[in-house]
Amino acid sequence: MEKNIIPIIILITLLYMVLSNIKKEKKLYNLAYIDPITGLGNFNFFIEKITENLTKSNNSTSYMLMLDIKKFKSFNKKYGHEVGKLILESLGNRLSSILPDSAIVSRFSSDVFGVLLTSSDIDYFIDIITDKTKYIVIGEQSYSLQLYIGVYKLVDTDFDAYTIIDKSKIALELAKEQIVTNVAFYNSDIEKQVLKEQEIESIMEQALLNNEFKVFYQPKIDLNCPNNICAEALVRWHSKNRIISPSEFIPLFEKNGFILKLDLYIFEEVCKALVFWKSKYNKIPHVSVNVSKEHFYVKDFIVQYAKIVKKYGLINHNIELEITESATVNDNIDIFEIIRDIKKQGFLISIDDFGTGYSSLSMLQSLNIDTIKIDKSFVDVIDIQKPNKNIIQDIIFLAHKLGLKTVAEGVENKAQLDYLKGLNCDFIQGYYFSKPLEKEDFEQIGKPFY
Ligand code: C2E
Ligand code: CA
Ligand code: CA
Repeated sequence: MEKNIIPIIILITLLYMVLSNIKKEKKLYNLAYIDPITGLGNFNFFIEKITENLTKSNNSTSYMLMLDIKKFKSFNKKYGHEVGKLILESLGNRLSSILPDSAIVSRFSSDVFGVLLTSSDIDYFIDIITDKTKYIVIGEQSYSLQLYIGVYKLVDTDFDAYTIIDKSKIALELAKEQIVTNVAFYNSDIEKQVLKEQEIESIMEQALLNNEFKVFYQPKIDLNCPNNICAEALVRWHSKNRIISPSEFIPLFEKNGFILKLDLYIFEEVCKALVFWKSKYNKIPHVSVNVSKEHFYVKDFIVQYAKIVKKYGLINHNIELEITESATVNDNIDIFEIIRDIKKQGFLISIDDFGTGYSSLSMLQSLNIDTIKIDKSFVDVIDIQKPNKNIIQDIIFLAHKLGLKTVAEGVENKAQLDYLKGLNCDFIQGYYFSKPLEKEDFEQIGKPFY
């Protein structure tokens, strides 16, 4: 009897060791490859699986999808992190259940999921994903969800999992910028754009330190008083290799937040120029400066502007701030409060690109502003033959009725100028009179009037 018990004990111990090793390995595997919230694979899992798939040669069509929940952060804030986790779990389950078994579904991070799907009908699956993830029910409550979806179609030469994921990410970024739909497909043009943006982002900070951003001044002609020297300050980037146009970097800087620094830098440069002109001619031209709508999300942003004015001993009412009309119709900000704050600091305000931003007339009446800048698109279509067909006359009439000054932008020929003069437009800005000029050249234009 005793003789038999020893091998049994050894056997049990061995069995125990083997089992606990399996358990340990499973634990290690889970830690390395399984997402604890959804039970799906994680990023590492996805990389391994997709790499396996790439080595198998097959003729089927595959797509890499990257999904991201719209405004998930505010979701978490509103309902709490526990609900957030449950939503992620449900979404993971939902995706697994609506997609074919062959699909690889993983959660990469926070609210970002990756899917590798083999199918010849991607539109069908996009519709299914969009439709079946609209609502997630947890307990008694139903939560409405929207997904951004970036799609990349794999090609024969794809062999690197990371490149494929990057391409779907580029498509996802594009999906987030769409207005009508939340879905976007990768194409090489976007990639070029992304690379260009990355290049700009890598040099922008240093460029600011190197004083590569210059202020140009485009004269504004006061039709009632030609001796009144006015200008709009416009930024130009003299990079080492080329001059980069604002249209290439302003939208990007608005996206990445760098515009906040750049605008203040330009504003300070303008103040320096005003001080210089004051000491040289004892007269200060009236200059307007563009202020991006991104400042409106920064509490007390205008105090920074006022501080700069004070630093240079200037008076705020010599300086006009241009804010775009589209910024005044944004639900996320209180434009009345912002305008009140700007006015409290004594600045003049003009509404830029007027006519393109769908602000209501009643709003215009209640906003305490000084000037309307009529967008170039209205000036472009001035047709002398059909003077009543253009709403410029209505805008000018209405602006004057409200006691506001009007500037017409982008005036390029005499016919436009004459037409606008006939409507009593107050200021003219455009290539017909002058392009934006370097400080010294602008000074030469203004000289006779000082
Ligand atoms: P914007 O504020 O509407 O400025 C007017 C734009 O029209 C300028 O382009 C100007 O050069 C151009 N322009 C003026 N007259 C004519 C004309 O007769 N014909 C044509 N075809 N164009 C004319 P620019 O300098 O390229 O600036 C583009 C936009 O970039 C500006 O539009 C403004 O929104 C933004 N921007 C420029 N500088 C700054 C800045 O310092 N801060 C911010 N936040 N935005 C700026
Ligand atoms: Ca402007
Ligand atoms: Ca404008």
